[in-house]
Amino acid sequence: MSATGALGELLARAEALYRDYRLGAVREWKARTGGLAVGYMPIYVPRELLHAQGVLPVGLMGGRDDLEIIKGDAYYQSYICHIPRSTIELGLNGSLDCLDGMLLPAICDVIRNLSGMWGMLFPDKLSRYLDLPQDFDPELGGAFYRHELEQLAADLAARGARPLEPEALRHSIALFNEDRRLVRELYELRWREPWKVPTHELYLLVRAALVMPVEESSALFRSYRELVQADPERKPLDQARVLLTGSFCEQPPLGLIKTLERAGCYIVDDDFVQVHRFIRSDIPTVGDPLGALVGAFLTDAVASPTRYIAEAEKGRELVERCRETGTEGVLFCAPSFCDPALLDQPMAVRAVEAASIPWTAFKYSENSGQFQVIREQAGTFADSIKLWSNA
Ligand code: SF4
Repeated sequence: MSATGALGELLARAEALYRDYRLGAVREWKARTGGLAVGYMPIYVPRELLHAQGVLPVGLMGGRDDLEIIKGDAYYQSYICHIPRSTIELGLNGSLDCLDGMLLPAICDVIRNLSGMWGMLFPDKLSRYLDLPQDFDPELGGAFYRHELEQLAADLAARGARPLEPEALRHSIALFNEDRRLVRELYELRWREPWKVPTHELYLLVRAALVMPVEESSALFRSYRELVQADPERKPLDQARVLLTGSFCEQPPLGLIKTLERAGCYIVDDDFVQVHRFIRSDIPTVGDPLGALVGAFLTDAVASPTRYIAEAEKGRELVERCRETGTEGVLFCAPSFCDPALLDQPMAVRAVEAASIPWTAFKYSENSGQFQVIREQAGTFADSIKLWSNA
């Protein structure tokens, strides 16, 4: 089913933004406002802080299956994931030249190495490794993270951004709270009525939102929700309800998501483009706003493989999400060579098996072009779920 009318136009715009490597929307925003635009890599940065300083945070998620890697491969050995190669390629071919800087959060060794390379390749631009604490004691990890944020704010101000003011930060937190709430509502609508919110559409929205000011992304999410709820053509199909996990950083090609849906899966939960949901609930907008940002990271972030979680706890949140969303099976769908995803997978598998939830696993690369094998695997998995759940 392809959307038509206003919904079709909205999705076409989202797809155009998703496909635009040269960040035309960001270039337009800069021409209009004269503000700074700073890129960030998956999966989390404190976008509220950038917004409060008048900076546009621009989410970058590597390449797709249509980006030819000419120079990027020379920077990395063959046995690591693909996203740093495509990111380097985009930097070297000028696609990202509208960005005034880059934030590379501490999620794995690959991103750490990329941050060093970025600084050497683009010495005139801000390039910052955002060190995220793995200790969640407010006096220790909290104090460390607060210092990181203060340093980041000072670095942005030194590049011409507004100095960080508490009132502006409170306002930005409120805007991002609303944005996250709208995304949560779409995710909830999808698990309640997945035929209304196909994942390949939701995915385009959350990708498009990465290159928009938060005020525009909230309007996009609101419009989409209204349009799909009013669409009488969206009717339930006999599909298996699956949760897809492992794709928080390098993203699968859009074609792979569509393939899973066509193979008989309703994806009722996922961890794509996790920055929109990394903080689970509203961040307080009263009191010390920097402390509120720090507190949210310490106590209210998702159970990502990029954060320290005691081994006995690994997989617990995944099982809870399965129960909440009525998931019938789990697809472990991770990028090839992604250490955080693949090292956690055995513990997550153990947890879903203990909860008697069926699962299957496969790997992809952002430039994968052939999905036939995955289609057969996912189709067989969906069929077996339907067969056994009806037995
Ligand atoms: S895909 Fe995995 S290993 Fe590669 S940069 Fe992302 S988190 Fe790191």
